[in-house]
Amino acid sequence: ESFASINLSRPILKGLSNVGFIKPTDIQARTIPIALMGKDICGGAVTGSGKTAAFIVPILERLLYRPRQTPSTRVLILCPTRELAAQVHSVAVKLANYTDITFALCVGGLSVKTQEQELKLKPDVVVATPGRLIDHVRNSTGFHLDACEILVMDEADRMLEDGFADELGEIIKACPRGRQTMLFSATMTDNVDQLVRMSLNNPVRLFV
Ligand code: AMP
Repeated sequence: ESFASINLSRPILKGLSNVGFIKPTDIQARTIPIALMGKDICGGAVTGSGKTAAFIVPILERLLYRPRQTPSTRVLILCPTRELAAQVHSVAVKLANYTDITFALCVGGLSVKTQEQELKLKPDVVVATPGRLIDHVRNSTGFHLDACEILVMDEADRMLEDGFADELGEIIKACPRGRQTMLFSATMTDNVDQLVRMSLNNPVRLFV
């Protein structure tokens, strides 16, 4: 089975082949069709499974399907570390190479002022760590999540271990209730389960 049989649009298929992804991995084959239906997903998946493209591909596809007239941040992807966020951002930018979709990376260590300017341009997709994103949500310089259609929490167990439960709760509350939420975690602890219950709506559970 190839990506071509999942019914993806041409720019996305071109992006995939550009990075050398021809056949979907197990988690990609199972996640992409369900995510495209707009369902919430709770995925038990570790790094190396191909989970990044599993959530990026349906996000890009949905952004292309339903274009926006006025620019707004429509997708928020939260990752536990700067390095992971930078990696996810880089994969997303490459896969979106044949689209007009815009991105911003919002992590600690980068200039807050520069990021404020970037966020003012209302990038479609923001990839962030919870600690830095919460600064932008609280210091209201105009950034908000009112138009966030899709929220991704990648490596949720690590974000909770790093003590970001409060930040996650606040960010989730700042997103519209009708959003789609995807949560990925290598382990399913009680804390992760609590986060799942507070943020996901009737999720499909996928384990690879
Ligand atoms: P991830 O779990 O998302 O960090 O991906 C793990 C590794 O698998 C990365 O090096 C990806 O570039 C690679 N990868 C992900 N999906 C595919 C695919 N469908 N075909 C080939 N390589 C892939």
